[in-house]
Parts: sequence; structure tokens; C-alpha cells
Amino acid sequence: MKTVLVNVVTPDGPVYDADVEMVSVKAQSGELGILPGHIPMVAPLEIGAVRLKQGSSTELVAVSGGFIEVRPDKVTILAQTAEKAENIDVHRAAEAKRRAEERLTHKSDEIDFKRAELALRRAINRLNVTK
Ligand code: ATP
Repeated sequence: MKTVLVNVVTPDGPVYDADVEMVSVKAQSGELGILPGHIPMVAPLEIGAVRLKQGSSTELVAVSGGFIEVRPDKVTILAQTAEKAENIDVHRAAEAKRRAEERLTHKSDEIDFKRAELALRRAINRLNVTK
């Protein structure tokens, strides 16, 4: 089976580095499934899950947006934050979700609203990735 090297990198350092048979991401233009040998491209990502398929197992990494750079033999995902499913603190994400929901129910300015909405999406994404 052909494989492609995938690196997931954040400002705090590398989070994932392995050869996979397929990587799927949530791009701003929609879901993208990348196989080895894909034509070069760059795309912005949504807050979402990166799915890394190797044999019968699929690993999940939660990313908070960023970019994917695809080359035929290498995929690089640059994100502000990224966590493998097993490194996600479920309690922390649940608390972040609760705080964000609380902020969204109170009237505040638009910037705070947007910030709370993004925090909520990050928390929900982290919780989904651990499921
Ligand atoms: P919180 O309010 O809990 O900090 P957040 O969405 O504001 O959540 P971020 O700013 O996205 O947090 O991330 C800050 C750092 O904490 C990053 O390094 C990120 O990987 C890490 N992180 C955030 N939430 C979790 C979590 N639930 N489990 C593990 N690491 C997390």
C-alpha cells in the first residue's frame, strides 16, 4: 500500500509525524481526502478533526484551523493548536464548552461573542475527537 508522510505542526512543536495511507481534513471549502501522489496544493482549514488512516486503524487529531500543504509525498498541517485524541483532556474541554456557552447566553459586544463562538467550536471539536 502506498503511503504519504504527514506532519502536524503547531507553534509549540510537532504533534504528529507518520506515514499514512490517507489523510482527511475539514478545509474551508469542504472535506478533503488526500491520497499518496496528490497534486500540490495549499488550503485553509476549519476547526475540525484530521483523520489519519493506516491499515485498519484511523487516528484522530483535533486542530483549531490552520493550513494544509499537500505535496505528492508529504502533507504538512500547520495549526495554532493540535491534539491527538489520547492527549485531549475531556474535563478541560467540557469546562471550556460550558464557559463558552455561558458567555454566549449573556449579551456582550460582537468581538466577545465571536471569541466565545470560536472557543465553543474548539471545545466541541475536542470532545468529538475523543468519542
Ligand atoms: P481552554 O479554555 O481550556 O484553554 P482553549 O480552546 O481556549 O481552551 P486553546 O487556546 O485552543 O485552548 O489552546 C491552548 C493550549 O492548550 C494549546 O496548546 C492546546 O493544544 C491546549 N489545549 C486546549 N484544550 C485542551 C484539552 N481539552 N486537552 C488538551 N490540550 C488542550
